[in-house]
Amino acid sequence: MFKREDTGPAVADIRSRLVALRLLPDDPRAQTPDDAVFDTAMEDAVRHFQQDRALTADGVVGPETFRHLEEARWRLGDRLLAHSVSHPMVGDDIARLQQRLLDMGFVPGRVDGIYGPDTAQAVREFQRNTGLRPDGTCGPATFTVLARLTRTVVGGHPHVMRESEELRRSGPSLAGKVLVLDPGHGGDDPGATCHGLREADVMWDLVNRLEGRLTALGVRTYLTRSQHTGGTEADRARFANATEADLAVSLHTDSHPNPRAHGVSAYYYGYDRHGRWSHTGRSFAGFARREIVARCGFGDNRSHGKTWTLLRTTRMPTVRLDLGYLSNPDDAARLASAEAQTLIVESIAVALQRLYLPPEDDAPTGVLNLPLRLTAPPTMDEATS
Ligand SMILES: [Zn+2]
Repeated sequence: MFKREDTGPAVADIRSRLVALRLLPDDPRAQTPDDAVFDTAMEDAVRHFQQDRALTADGVVGPETFRHLEEARWRLGDRLLAHSVSHPMVGDDIARLQQRLLDMGFVPGRVDGIYGPDTAQAVREFQRNTGLRPDGTCGPATFTVLARLTRTVVGGHPHVMRESEELRRSGPSLAGKVLVLDPGHGGDDPGATCHGLREADVMWDLVNRLEGRLTALGVRTYLTRSQHTGGTEADRARFANATEADLAVSLHTDSHPNPRAHGVSAYYYGYDRHGRWSHTGRSFAGFARREIVARCGFGDNRSHGKTWTLLRTTRMPTVRLDLGYLSNPDDAARLASAEAQTLIVESIAVALQRLYLPPEDDAPTGVLNLPLRLTAPPTMDEATS
């Protein structure tokens, strides 16, 4: 612990650190071990530094203040930054890197100056997006690109701001929106089979009804498979990525050995625990699930962030709906009924409309009615006559 009137090499070292931070004027003699004195000016500088870092401002350099002085000396680009599990790197250069990544819409976790796994992952995503080798290590090439790409978006959750802005810009009308519809399973893969129903067939029927309904509302749709073909999640994601779709919706049902398991779940891309998720995906998952529960009488198993291949590798927000349990007699009866299928389809269409409505125009769950079909906006002549 070092305080006023102390002398010696450690005081000289602390002095030069404070000089480097521009908290003390540069005086080479006062920074030599023989002449360094912890004077009142140095005490003031230490207090200033402590205040700035939310430490106890006592003007004394104890272990904690010294650790902060050590972290503060690193400037972004001074050293190679890499993730180490046993000895995570810490420093102000890392906090600066985290802030830059956050400002650009990446999610490095908290701006805490620690190069943890979230920061390494955000660096990899940044590298992938900028054509660098995604190794999660910050070297000269990454620093150069980082310096070039200084953006002006500051504060908040940039990914939320960006996705909300995209939603707002695309306007409330469903006409012209593009959707990828993904009926689960197919081909050799029937999915769940219970109560004489095959998941692949039921989802195919539902998607066809949904496609018809959305087309009537002016939405353009793409189907990831035909009636008798299937494909892996990666195939479906590749297909979706070849379209210019605004959103992808994958339909499945669940099944469980316990026939009492029932209810609807919705899944979006995300990692709740790390605060990293698709804002649009999460919103649509919530709307769709709540509308389906309210309108069709399914139980509610909530929405969940997942990193499954289809959710993670599609470029557009993707939501997977698990429409009840085919293994549950009540859920299976609903899925087999044309009437309930119509309600499920209407719920999804309403959810889509709610996703694009500005918050002030949104309606509570279960009450919004959509027109039977797209009504063409009045032409100029009609509007002025
Ligand atoms: Zn399935």
